[in-house]
Amino acid sequence: MPIYEYHCDKCNHNFECLVLGSDQPECPSCNSKEVNKLISACGFITKGTGGETVSRSAANSSCSGCTATSCSGCGH
Ligand SMILES: [Zn+2]
Repeated sequence: MPIYEYHCDKCNHNFECLVLGSDQPECPSCNSKEVNKLISACGFITKGTGGETVSRSAANSSCSGCTATSCSGCGH
């Protein structure tokens, strides 16, 4: 299960969120959707699978599993 770390632009709250499909996570503090996936989260998923990016097939993105519109790790 991919759990990503996000940073909220509105209240500067950092939180972890389990992302399924194309869901856009909300900040648990202010309910804003203006959140950015942290760079370390993207890299961790890729390395953690030992080269076999299992989650990549689930998302049409250069960043495996990335569904955010403002991911600072892959530019999406
Ligand atoms: Zn927030």
